[in-house]
Amino acid sequence: MSSNSKLSGYVSSLEGEMIDAMKRMISIPAISPESGGEGEYDRGEFLVSLLKENGITRVSRFDAPDRKAKHGIRPNIVASLGNGKGPSLWVISHMDTVPVGDRNLWKHDPFTAVVREGKIFGRGAEDNGQSLIASIYAAKAVIDAGLSPDVKISFVSDEELGSAKGIEYMLKKGAFSKGDEFLVPDSGSERGDAIEIAEKSSLWARVRTAGRQTHASTPASGLNASLAASRFMVFMTEYLYAKYDRKDHLFEPVPGSTFEPTKRLSNVENVNTIPGTDEFYFDCRILPSYRVSAILQDMRRVAALFSERTGAKIRVDVFKKSTAAEPSSTSSGIFRALAEAVKDMRGIEPRFVGIGGGTCANIVRLRGFPAAVWSTECGMAHQPNEYSLIRNMVEDAKVMAALFAR
Ligand SMILES: [Zn+2]
Repeated sequence: MSSNSKLSGYVSSLEGEMIDAMKRMISIPAISPESGGEGEYDRGEFLVSLLKENGITRVSRFDAPDRKAKHGIRPNIVASLGNGKGPSLWVISHMDTVPVGDRNLWKHDPFTAVVREGKIFGRGAEDNGQSLIASIYAAKAVIDAGLSPDVKISFVSDEELGSAKGIEYMLKKGAFSKGDEFLVPDSGSERGDAIEIAEKSSLWARVRTAGRQTHASTPASGLNASLAASRFMVFMTEYLYAKYDRKDHLFEPVPGSTFEPTKRLSNVENVNTIPGTDEFYFDCRILPSYRVSAILQDMRRVAALFSERTGAKIRVDVFKKSTAAEPSSTSSGIFRALAEAVKDMRGIEPRFVGIGGGTCANIVRLRGFPAAVWSTECGMAHQPNEYSLIRNMVEDAKVMAALFAR
């Protein structure tokens, strides 16, 4: 029997343990303080004990301080399978989850895992729980096979809100060295054949409009901020889509840039008042060949024109932005090794893609590290009734184990 088919059989035999670990983890919420949670402390402690239970004892930590989090800590945990001296292959999964959203849309308690029809339901099951568990059991498989490769599996905080207290903090503390490579199993296709090498830039812009509140029966005595903002919103959206219309078919499922008005704050309580203020947001996902600053400049220029024309004051500012790194070169070791592991363990030919979402990979790519994003997913991230397909968790662990064993 080849060593890969031995690993594959061994990982299959761990399925029951993996399901059990996932169920225990889902019952420990890990929502960031900014989203109303306590942070990742408890989940981090659980994962450290799970590592130990499975014979993985070389654990180090990069705890980022955060007064709003439980025990003032946003944990970042690293488990080394080797002696940690040579360049390492890192596997980065995030512990934090988004909040539940509308609780009424959930069929079960989001923090009590339910196993049904080959799926494990619960908040964070797929994003990013599936990969947290898969990476631990892949590590167990290679250790139990007597190997100690230069692999580090890492569980980070704060991914959903920009990673300042997660992978950015680890970078600042010098966790990574020259020659390190990264697997970020936080996005992927349903077949498991998509290896992501590029991400779009993102711009979250806040648009605040000031008019003058008045009685709805006498609009001329005020200035309807909601109406002025709506006109600007519609024009701006169409303008950006028309001007920045380049397509790059590396990117899936949307080959172009996107410019969508999203969140809008509620304004007046009653129907018969004309709102004096308005606030809404744009979520823009921009192909790397465009400059984020050019788009922001256009928004501000058009906002100034609309302000002049309507008398309302429209201000555009940056709520959050991230610049896309250069796509990783697919000739670096991690891409060849991962493609081979996917072929070997799954019998499928992987392809290289770009995505509109953002992951930890972009952050390390910006520092010049090669990073591959890969996993097998049903696209349940952030959805009500989120689930992880048990088969995906187990099959992904097999690919990771093959990758570690090389
Ligand atoms: Zn994620």
